[in-house]
Amino acid sequence: MAGLQALDRLIIERRDSRSDLGATVTANGGIQVDYGKTRFMLDPHGAAKADYVFVSHAHVDHMHNPSKSEKIIASAATTELAKARGYDLGATTEDVEGVELLDSGHILGSRAIRIADEVFYTGDASGRARAFLGKCKTRQARILIMETTYGVPDYTFPQTAKLVKEVNSLIAGAYDRGVPVVLMGYPLGKAQLLAYFFSSWAPLYYSSNVAEMNRVHAENGIDLKRGTHFDPRKDYDSLPHGPWLLVSPMSSGRSRLMSHLKKKYGAILVAFSGWALGSGYRYTMGADYSFPLSDHCDYQELVKLVEAVSPETVYTVHGFAAEFASDLRKMGFHARTLGAYQSSLTDFARQA
Ligand SMILES: [Zn+2]
Repeated sequence: MAGLQALDRLIIERRDSRSDLGATVTANGGIQVDYGKTRFMLDPHGAAKADYVFVSHAHVDHMHNPSKSEKIIASAATTELAKARGYDLGATTEDVEGVELLDSGHILGSRAIRIADEVFYTGDASGRARAFLGKCKTRQARILIMETTYGVPDYTFPQTAKLVKEVNSLIAGAYDRGVPVVLMGYPLGKAQLLAYFFSSWAPLYYSSNVAEMNRVHAENGIDLKRGTHFDPRKDYDSLPHGPWLLVSPMSSGRSRLMSHLKKKYGAILVAFSGWALGSGYRYTMGADYSFPLSDHCDYQELVKLVEAVSPETVYTVHGFAAEFASDLRKMGFHARTLGAYQSSLTDFARQA
């Protein structure tokens, strides 16, 4: 009994000392983390007042145009990709005392951040290696802030190799019939995976902004097969008749360009997104086929990530944040959403 009381006292003392020294997390136009005397803003939506501002990766929903005084923590590849997309992050650093950046496996340059052993923030994260991308690395921390885009059990992604095989059969069938194929995904990240997996098909075309992101990948040692530049504003009538492959940004099949490619060339449209597991996705996108190739964790991978970080408290952001927090509470974690930082489920269409 005496032993138990001593243990209880120890736990209370530990909690008390943490309430003095531990980090606090709030949503304030970004994810604000105050730890000791230092304020961090993680992925703010606009210019931020903090000692350090962290930009996890170069998707536009995670970037902002910083003020001159902001000290930005970001990987070199994120800084280059941001610049190519019109965001000047200035002189960024990866080297801050007490702060560790870890590959989050989402896209080239994407990082998770660990602040001492207090806070681990995933940014956007993938739970599996694909092509030139690894899976999210983890470290233990008392507080986990995590993305939960696909935080319900319906989202279990298939093996990437199996999916690639199915898509290659689809393309082979189209080529046999003399039919061209448009592969659609976000121009940064997904489009480079599509280029990696399917560029053995010829002739091969890349839409302008896909080609621009490929260039930054090449400068970072990921040399994707070269293709012909396709400018969607003027090249829509100069494609050959017969089979070809175009890697294009995600666009509705009902858009002017895609309708034209279908009508004039008989092209089939194939969309790639984790949302393809949801009923109605293919119809919503106006695509002929869709495949659940994702750069995020699926549900089980999110659970594994929590177990690996082994936190006391979890804050969830993006997608099914409330649902996942509820599941974590049933598993015994303190978990809640960072509601004010929440993006809407309908944001997926503009996540480019
Ligand atoms: Zn992202």
